[in-house]
Amino acid sequence: MSLFRSQVQQMAGYTPGEQPQEPGWVKLNTNENAYPPSPLVLEAVQQVLTGRLNVYPDPLATEFREVASELFHVDADWILPGNGSDEILTILMRTFVDPNEIVSAPYPSYTLYETLAEIQGAQFQNIQLNSNWSWPANASEKAAKSKILFVPNPNAPSGNRWQDSEILELIPSQGVLVLDEAYGDFCDSPHQCELLKSNSGDKIVVTRTLSKSYSLAGIRFGFAVAHPDLIKGMRKVKDSYNCNTLSLAAATAALKDQKWMQANTDQIRASRTHFISEVRGLGFETVESQTNFVWCTHPDGEHERRYQELKQRKILVRYMKFPLQEGTRDGLRITVGTNDELQQVIDALREIG
Ligand code: PMP
Repeated sequence: MSLFRSQVQQMAGYTPGEQPQEPGWVKLNTNENAYPPSPLVLEAVQQVLTGRLNVYPDPLATEFREVASELFHVDADWILPGNGSDEILTILMRTFVDPNEIVSAPYPSYTLYETLAEIQGAQFQNIQLNSNWSWPANASEKAAKSKILFVPNPNAPSGNRWQDSEILELIPSQGVLVLDEAYGDFCDSPHQCELLKSNSGDKIVVTRTLSKSYSLAGIRFGFAVAHPDLIKGMRKVKDSYNCNTLSLAAATAALKDQKWMQANTDQIRASRTHFISEVRGLGFETVESQTNFVWCTHPDGEHERRYQELKQRKILVRYMKFPLQEGTRDGLRITVGTNDELQQVIDALREIG
């Protein structure tokens, strides 16, 4: 007899991307930001280090919520921070979904949604996207009965962004739409949670992260923006002190320096445009990415070989494979690093063939 809960026994669990600990890698596999965070972050953390680490952090994250609320033009009670946006996704699942209820997400997309649904004992439903990453004709019908519909926008691993109007049509009648905007700041025209102000705004939760556009994957910080009635329930579920004193100080300082984040994401958008034209020149097909990564496929289908050969050269990209009813969909998801890193990828791909 197993000591585990039956769900835990049956599930495979989530496998995070490889995190080699030794130096010397060109690391383009987990969509981190190659550039440093705002210098204000270091200053804020240094100040906290000389302060009081012996007491618990502010459980309400008051200062962070004030800064975030100004940014999104809402009141502070619309904001809930967490230990990475992954924790926010966990809180959402625990707040809104009873065992056996339906949780849906587009497929292929972020695979953590399924793992979280399994842990909760929910029924998980993939809504398989068309081969050009558009929604299938029956998407809103499939989404209708979901308690949560997760939509990463822009999507991962493809990097495309869907129009707000398409997404509004998918809101489940008795459930919540979670718009996972982990990569929202990399869009050509970034958006600031406009859908929350639509007629259906009280059924939408937007999630954001500081891991990508703010260069702070190491501190683990993300947050939700939603109507206070939804946030109220989520606050009951979260751990009392889910964000620590150091990460709260760092995240607050990072959000205050919008100029830094804009310059950072402008640079990444420029590198992305250049990289896309280079890999296309090598015969790859790419999606018009609105993120800090590019989904690359080649007509010859030899993606796994290329992943391995890049790895032998200490260049780490993400090889991803999604089983479908009609075969398998795979490709390479490559983070937009520095221009120098991307040039190394191009040179290596040219050599590898
Ligand atoms: N959503 C998506 C679509 C992601 O790709 C990621 C990064 N793996 C996350 C959420 C989680 O980000 P974090 O927990 O670092 O905030």
